[in-house]
Order: sequence, then C-alpha cells, then structure tokens
Amino acid sequence: MEAATTLRPPLAEDPVASVGVFDIVIQMSQDNIVTKTETAPTPPLTGRTTQAGTTVTSMPLHWDDTSSRRIHICFAVATPDEGVPKHNQFEGTLRLKASYVKASGQTVHCVLDVALRIGPRQRSEDLFIFYVVHHVPPQRYCWVKLRAVDANTTKAVASANVKAEVLRDNFNNGFTNINRQVALETNKEGYVSCEGRTTLALPIDWPILFRATVPSHSAAMGYLPRAHMLRFTKDHLKGNTQDAPLRPDNMQLQRINTTQLTNRRFLLDPGHGVVYGLAAARRSQEWFGAHLVADRIAHLLQTRHGVPQENIFWTRTAGFGLIEPGSVNAAAAPETGAQRYEYNLSQRRIRIRNGNPTLLALSALLLTRHSGDTNAVLPVGAEDRARLLQINTATVNTITARINQQLQSSHRRVQPGSVRWDVTTNNYVYTRESTQTLPGGNTPPPQVQAFPITTQDWFEVDDAMLEVLADRSARWSLACEIGGDGNFQTSARTAMRTRGFVDYARTKVLRYLQQGSPQAYFNHGTKAWGPTPRLAYINGIDPECDLYLSIHLNAGGAAAKGQVLLVSRTDPPNDQIRLAKVFVKYVDPCGLGLRQGGVAAEEPNNPAAMLSAQNQRREKYTYFELEFMDAAHSSGGQGQYRYGELIEESRVDEMAEQIVAGIVESLLNRQPNLDAVTYRSTLGDPPLW
Ligand SMILES: [Zn+2]
Repeated sequence: MEAATTLRPPLAEDPVASVGVFDIVIQMSQDNIVTKTETAPTPPLTGRTTQAGTTVTSMPLHWDDTSSRRIHICFAVATPDEGVPKHNQFEGTLRLKASYVKASGQTVHCVLDVALRIGPRQRSEDLFIFYVVHHVPPQRYCWVKLRAVDANTTKAVASANVKAEVLRDNFNNGFTNINRQVALETNKEGYVSCEGRTTLALPIDWPILFRATVPSHSAAMGYLPRAHMLRFTKDHLKGNTQDAPLRPDNMQLQRINTTQLTNRRFLLDPGHGVVYGLAAARRSQEWFGAHLVADRIAHLLQTRHGVPQENIFWTRTAGFGLIEPGSVNAAAAPETGAQRYEYNLSQRRIRIRNGNPTLLALSALLLTRHSGDTNAVLPVGAEDRARLLQINTATVNTITARINQQLQSSHRRVQPGSVRWDVTTNNYVYTRESTQTLPGGNTPPPQVQAFPITTQDWFEVDDAMLEVLADRSARWSLACEIGGDGNFQTSARTAMRTRGFVDYARTKVLRYLQQGSPQAYFNHGTKAWGPTPRLAYINGIDPECDLYLSIHLNAGGAAAKGQVLLVSRTDPPNDQIRLAKVFVKYVDPCGLGLRQGGVAAEEPNNPAAMLSAQNQRREKYTYFELEFMDAAHSSGGQGQYRYGELIEESRVDEMAEQIVAGIVESLLNRQPNLDAVTYRSTLGDPPLW
C-alpha cells in the first residue's frame, strides 16, 4: 500500500518556500488487502520535505490499527508564492495504491486517484477517503459533502448514524460477499462525517447508498430511517477538488409525526397461500413468511401512519379445502375433496356432489377435529352430530317430505320428529312408521332406517364447522404444502410449528370469510386465490390504491442470497422501476445485499403472472422477493435453513420497517433526481437502472 502525489514539476520561477498541508483519514474496505512489512523506519513527511532539491512524492500507508483499517496521512506540497500570478495554487492528484487477493488467489492492484488543490500556507484537514480496494469501481474518486436535514423544517439533523455502502449486487463481476461500507455520522450542521471530517472521497460509476437512522427516545418525535442513493460519474469530476466538493441534494429525514398516510390506500398481496389454488406453486412456508411481513406492514401503517383499516386491501390468500378427515396428511386431499363435495362460499352451504351421498360422511367432514402433530382424528360427539340436523331443519324437512312421497304408496311415512343421530348404529336415522291400521288392530312395528340424502341436498355450515374445515386445511397445509426438498420441508415445518403456523393459518382462513369481508372474497372457490383472481381483484379496487405490494420469499439454491424486486421481462413501466429503486434503498432483510442488482426481470422460465400487462396497476406495483429461504442458516447449523431466521419475529419486524420506510418515501417525499442514479442501465427507457 502506498500513497503518491503527482506534483507538477517545479517551474524555474517558483519560489518553494510556501507549502500547503494535507491531513487525510483513509478508511479501507474489508477486502483481503495485501500488506507489506516495512524494514526501515519511515521518516515523517512534513513541510520540510519540499525544501529545494527535495522531492518526496510517495509514502507507505500504515493502518492505525488492523481492526479499524484506518490510515491517517499528513503531507505538505510546495505551493507557488502568492506573488506569482496564476500559479499560487498547487493542483495535483493523490494516488493511493493497494492490492487485494481474490478468492481465486489472484492478486489485483487497485489504484485510487483523487484531485487535490491548495494554496500557500493553507491546511486542508477536513478530508476522509473511503478506499474501496476492489476491481470495481474504477480508480477515480470524487469529493462530496452530503447534508442531512429535516424534510419539513430544513434544519440540520445532527447525530444521525449514516452507513455509506457500495451497492452490493452479488454478481462476481460486481460486488459480492463483503459489505463494503463505512459507519459515518452527521455533525451539528447535518453533514455526513467521519471523525468530524465532512469532505468525503467516494468512488464514481457505481451506486452508493447512504442509510441514515436517528436514535430517539420518543417514537413520535423520532425520525424514520431514510436512505439516499447517489452515483457519481466522470462528469462530476470536472473541477472537483477537496475545496470544491460536490454538494448533492440534501438527505431529507422525516419525523414520524409528519408521515401520516391517512387518505392513502394499499393493497397487500402475500405470495402463495393456504391450500393455494395454483397447485403447482404450493409453498405454504413462503406464504407464512410473506403474510407475517404483510401483517406487520398493515400494523405499522395503521398504528403509526394513521391509515384506516378499511384502506388496506388484501388478496384472499388463506383458503380451505374440502379435505376428508382421513386425508389430512394426503397430498392430493384438496383436489380429491373437490371432486366429492361442493361448497358455496357466499351462501355458506355444502353438498355431496359425487359418490355415495351420506349424511354420515358429510358430518365427518364438517365436525371431525384433530389433535397433535400427527393430526390424529378425534371422535365426534353426539351433540355435534345432532347440531348438523338442528341448523338444517329446512333441508331435513325437505328430505323428509321426499321420503314420505316415496313411502306414500306403501302407506308408510317418516315418524314426525324422528330424524336423529343414533349412537347405537353410529348413523343418522329416522323411524319409519305405518300410516294404516291393519285388520285385527295389527299395526306393523316402526322400524329404524338410515336417513338418506342425495347429491341435490344442500346443508348449512355454521361457524364451528367452518372452523373445523379451516383447522384441517391449516394442518394439511403444514403437512403437505411446504415446498422444497425433503430436508428443507422437515426443517421449515419445525420452524413453522414453533411459530404457531396452524393457529395463524386457521385464523386467517376465517378472517377472510368473516361478515363484512369484501363480496369478492366469496368468489373463485374455497382455495386461496391463484394469480387470475388476484389480478381481477387488484384491477377492480375502486378508487385505485396508492401502492400494490406482492410479497414473496425467494428460493433457489444453497449459495443464493440477496433481495430482489422483480419486474416483467417485457416492457416494465418506468414508474414501476422508479418505485422499485426506492425500495432497493431500504430493503435488505439479512444485510446480504441485492440479488441481480436489486431490480431485475423475472426469470424467463419462471414468469410471474402478477407482473404481466394483465396487471393494470403496474406503475404502482412492487413485487418483493425477500431473502432466499433455502440457503444455509447464518448459524451454520446442520439441517438449518435461513427460512427459520426469516420468520423470526424480530426479522419480520425489520423487513416490515424497511418496506414501510420505502412506502413513506415513495408517497410523501421521494429523493429528487433518483432517475439519474443508475446501475447497469439495462432497465427502463431511457435507462433508469
Ligand atoms: Zn413466491
């Protein structure tokens, strides 16, 4: 590692008695930097080194201490005397050189150039360089002063913690693995600084993120986290020196009590479902994580940002199947059940549509409860069986009339009031009696008969029965609806059970179908909505929502990582890309950076219907693929997956907070000029990312 200044060669007329002094702190990134051992003490460089005939133009770089990777350098340069017109400023370049070793073992040299300017007898000591020792970005850095202000009062926000971070795209030809970031803070004037130094040298040609948080004792008076993304370019280097730094737009922090969203409307769309209608995409573990996050987003919007509950819309993603009690652990149970039974959601009634119709079978479907992790079948009590008849008096009367019709010619009938649950025969029965008295007073004795039903008989379903269906569906979902390979399923199931999946899923199934739910919820069958009904619902919300959010967790490989916002492969609207860029600044669930640059087109072999042009709200629509759930758990435990971390309460809260911070910025106070901050210019027309 070494530093060098390229000095203009002294001119004959230059007096050399005058010097300017630079005092600079350098922070190196966490790359695997090559360090050398010095064999001789290094003479300190001072102003005296510019005495006539002495030209020292380089010096070694020493870390103050290894853990900080911080270097303090101080040197003098010869400045022409003030008396000499036009030549009274030193202008030059500070060049830092260092090498790092790539994972492949290859050593890569990284040179940093930054422009300096100083006059005689001046001292420049406000300087801080974040030296990213990596082959991307290019070697030129520019000087920047960035200020944090209150969005409403425009007063400085002091004591904010600001993380400056090179956007991590997780591409090998970009930035992967290490987080190249530096912890900064704002000073009294609101300037982002390190050790009080506010003139920052940062790399050009790559997005740089500044994430600000303000510690606060009062939630109401506190600030929401704010993220700012900048990209410096070659154009910014013109005239850029430490005494003429760039001054980007201020980072505008908002006090929480100024972030009311009272009249705003939101649609939340957790991906997948409980008994998901699109059977090929069943991943209940993903739904669980996504719905937990969405719940928390709704909570924050309501309690902190004043959004009325009725302004938060949900696609119906928790559904139920007509699963037979003995099939609760059978993969195809919802489809088998749909062959045999038909449920009318809006009228809340059920019939047997195929196979041998018996009230016994129907009652088992509607009344059987389960227990334990094995979903053991519990016996159904006689009172519950009787209740099915009690709430269906009209249907029972219709069936009785039909039986009487059939019995009429043989002078028999259903004994009035005799339809009942019979414990002895374990069946629904009625008493068949004769309607005539035979000669000699011989009346045939009454007979107990099974109570027959047909495929045309509809039966009412009460709350408790619906709860039974919902509970069985939640249990089936835990047993049979988890995606991924066997090891992952086992691990995810344990994590879901620990987090209370069955209770949660059952509650959601019922919540979507409670009184007062949107009429649309009672369409499209009992299962969780697939993409088509979701899109119909989204397109139909009137007036339109301000934002539509689909939330998924990603999957696809042990080594995969990063947050990504998906857009359509064909012509994503520019406003959708703009919206995604706002979220890119905030959402980083596990601190692992971005996947494929953060905003990416859907995979060609895995298109998402929700992103298609059939979604008429794409300008206000964001599709989150939060972290990879099937990658290894950060603890590295055997058989442990990241999924377990993603559904932890603290992580769910954090993801929701990040998304809500993005929501607030996107609706209330978008960072100006974000269009100019691009990544690889592959998305948008003109390129926006
Ligand atoms: Zn998904």
